[in-house]
Formats: sequence, C-alpha cells, structure tokens
Amino acid sequence: MSEITASTPPGLTDEQRDFVAALRDFCAREAGTPEQRERLTKGYTEFHNQELYEKLAELGWLGVAIDERWGGSGGGMVDACIFLEETARGLLPIAGYGVSLIVAGAYERFGTDAQKEEILGGIARGRVEAIAMSEPEAGSDVGNLSCRAEARDGGFVLNGQKTWISAAHLADHILVVCRTDPSGGKHDGISMISVPTDSDGLEVRGIQTMGGREVNDVFFTDCFVPADRVLGRVNEGWMQLMAGLNVERLILAATALGAAQRAFDDALAFIKERKQFGRPVGSFQALKHRVADLATELEATRLLIYEVARKVDEDPQRMLPREASMAKLKATELAKRCALEGMQMMGGYGYASEYDMERHVRNTLVMSIYGGTNEIQREIISRTYGL
Ligand SMILES: Cc1cc2nc3c(=O)[nH]c(=O)nc-3n(C[C@H](O)[C@H](O)[C@H](O)COP(=O)(O)OP(=O)(O)OC[C@H]3O[C@@H](n4cnc5c(N)ncnc54)[C@H](O)[C@@H]3O)c2cc1C
Repeated sequence: MSEITASTPPGLTDEQRDFVAALRDFCAREAGTPEQRERLTKGYTEFHNQELYEKLAELGWLGVAIDERWGGSGGGMVDACIFLEETARGLLPIAGYGVSLIVAGAYERFGTDAQKEEILGGIARGRVEAIAMSEPEAGSDVGNLSCRAEARDGGFVLNGQKTWISAAHLADHILVVCRTDPSGGKHDGISMISVPTDSDGLEVRGIQTMGGREVNDVFFTDCFVPADRVLGRVNEGWMQLMAGLNVERLILAATALGAAQRAFDDALAFIKERKQFGRPVGSFQALKHRVADLATELEATRLLIYEVARKVDEDPQRMLPREASMAKLKATELAKRCALEGMQMMGGYGYASEYDMERHVRNTLVMSIYGGTNEIQREIISRTYGL
C-alpha cells in the first residue's frame, strides 16, 4: 500500500480521530495489497463486495450517520464524510454504500417509524438501497420525469423507465421518484415511492460502462406497491428531493476527496522510487511542483468539505446550495486532476493495469457527471451570486 499522506480534518474529536485510525487500519488489513483488491472485486469486475460490506456493518460503521433508534451510532455528516473519505482512499469495494446513505437521508427526514426500522435499520445491518430519479428524457432536467405511479386498489401502479440507477442490482428496494399527478406544473405531482426489487413488474438491466457493472436501467410495467410504501407525502416529492441535496453533494464530495487523495498517494510513492537520469523522477522540478500544487488543492478541498459537513450537523434543516455545490464541484474536479496528473507522472506505468492509476482515472472521470453534473453545480453556485 502506498504511503498515506492525507492529513485529518481540523477540529475532530478524539473519538473521530480514533475512527480515522481504525478505518485506515481496516483498509490496510482488508484491501491493502493488489492481490486482496483483485480478489475482492473478482478481477476488478465488481465494485461491491457484500462479505466485506457485512464486516463493516458488524463493526457498526455502516450506521455511523444513522440514529441509534434504528441501529446506528447517531453520528452526523462529519462522521459520514470520514467514513466515505477513508474507505474511498483505502479502495474498499463498497459501491452500494454512498447511494444507500443518500436514501437514508430521505428516510431520516420523511420516513415513518416503521419505514425507518425497515430501511435505516437495514442499511446499518449491511443492506443496500438505491434511488431512481434519472430517466432517458430527464437527466439534468430531472423535473421533466414522466415515470408514472397511478393510485389504484389501495396502492400505486408504476409504469415507465428509470436509467443510470446505481446499485439497483444490489439493492433491496429502489426509492423511485415518480409522477403521481400529471395535471400540475413540472415540479408538482411528484412523489417518492419505495419499490422492493423483487416486485412483479420491475426489471433491472445492467448498462455497460467504462467503469464496469455499476449502473442500471430499471423498467416498471404495471408494478403494484401498497400505499404504505410512499415516503413522506404524496405529490410533495420535489420538495423532499431538494431537502436532501446538501447531504447528497457532501457524500459525493467526500468520496471524491478520498479517491483524489489515493491517486495522489500512489503517484507520490511511485515517483519517489522510479529513477531516470540516475535520480528519482520525483526530484525533477516539473514533478515536484505538480505534487506541491495537488497537495495544496487536497488540503483546501478537505477544509471546504468538512466545514460544509459541520454546518449541516449544526443545522440539518438549513439549505446550503452554494457551499454544498462548491464542495461537490471542487472535490470531483480535483479527483479527476489527481488521477490524470498521477498517470502522467507515472509515465507508461500509470497506464498499465498492473498499477491502480488507470483504474483511478476510470473511476474519477464520471464523478463530475453524476449527482448533478458540474455544469449544473456551477449554475447553482452562480445563481447564489444573483446571476
Ligand atoms: C455512473 C453514474 C451513476 C448514476 N447514478 C444515478 C442514480 O443512482 N440515480 C439517478 O437517479 N441517477 C443517476 N445517475 C444519473 C446522473 O445523475 C445523470 O447522468 C446526470 O444528472 C446528467 O444527466 P444526463 O446524463 O441525462 O445528461 P444531460 O442532462 O443530457 O446533460 C448533457 C450535457 O449538457 C449539460 N447541461 C444540461 N443542462 C444544462 C444546463 N442547464 N446548463 C449547462 N449545462 C447543461 C450537462 O452538464 C452535460 O454536460 C448516474 C449517472 C452515472 C453516469
């Protein structure tokens, strides 16, 4: 494993520092060697290892940001960011977690006790949940969604298609954002409905991507669910979706920061060892200055992310569109930059599958697309400046 150069965010409690240390230890023990990572991912074809995931559940770590009533340890977004950053940096194949945490946020805010017991309790115990907003004709313009849920026979009947749904093939349920009333404006008449993945009329089909098996098309054909599977209030799904944006963006930002840090660490370890012209390539100014720039960006990004997480913990109701979008934008662009510059600094070896760098490149390229593209984040940020 490469040297860990990541600093810890300022202002952590002793308990949180111990959590960082325990996570680094776990990652080194379970996924510290290329052989372990290859085995855990079945030769880098699968990005979620359920056995490893359940070990994390047993340690109580999947419930780090879930209320104690539902089997979690009652932490907040700072704790969640620590977990996401460290597990991304440690290359743990737990692709189902980030999206489960996004779903958890929605249930924390709007779930009934029975729903929280099922979904939040399930996540803390190692179950995966997915969320489906995007459709073929509703990507950045997600309010244009048309997947329909019609009230019938004491429940809802769903018809339509969702696309790009992360972890739907691993999940117990998909939280479907769908149209329950088509008569109003585009942000009215939207609801959130949790559909068990073993429901009749639901089909999950994998989409091939450069990242491997991660996303899915989901088709609904007369798929019936009882009314108690609605999350929150019928026709108020848009407002409920907006309420989750701080948390969603922080989850993606902290994951990207961990990936950025790992690409940096791996490149640094390599350029200290690799010699050309009789000296380590890292001693050439062209590479040293690159390292200095990336290290500075990493530190600044970490400060931003944990500051936003702290603000969310202080007041979970407060909307932070500017800060949360900045964190997502900054961290995901930095992850791409660290991986691409890391590859350049490693020369041909950065391109070889023997090293992780080419996988870091593939993994980070998509981060500026999902969870609201970075163009959309820039739109949101500039709007907060009155543009
Ligand atoms: C790996 C992966 C995982 C995903 N996981 C999920 C998931 O779990 N659940 C889910 O619901 N969705 C998921 N998505 C979907 C993701 O959120 C969308 O891909 C994303 O919102 C962009 O939508 P689109 O792909 O349709 O692109 P489009 O919206 O068609 O955008 C195309 C281009 O136009 C730009 N653009 C669009 N509108 C504007 C504008 N107003 N101003 C400036 N530029 C604009 C975009 O930034 C982009 O560059 C995932 C996507 C990927 C690739």
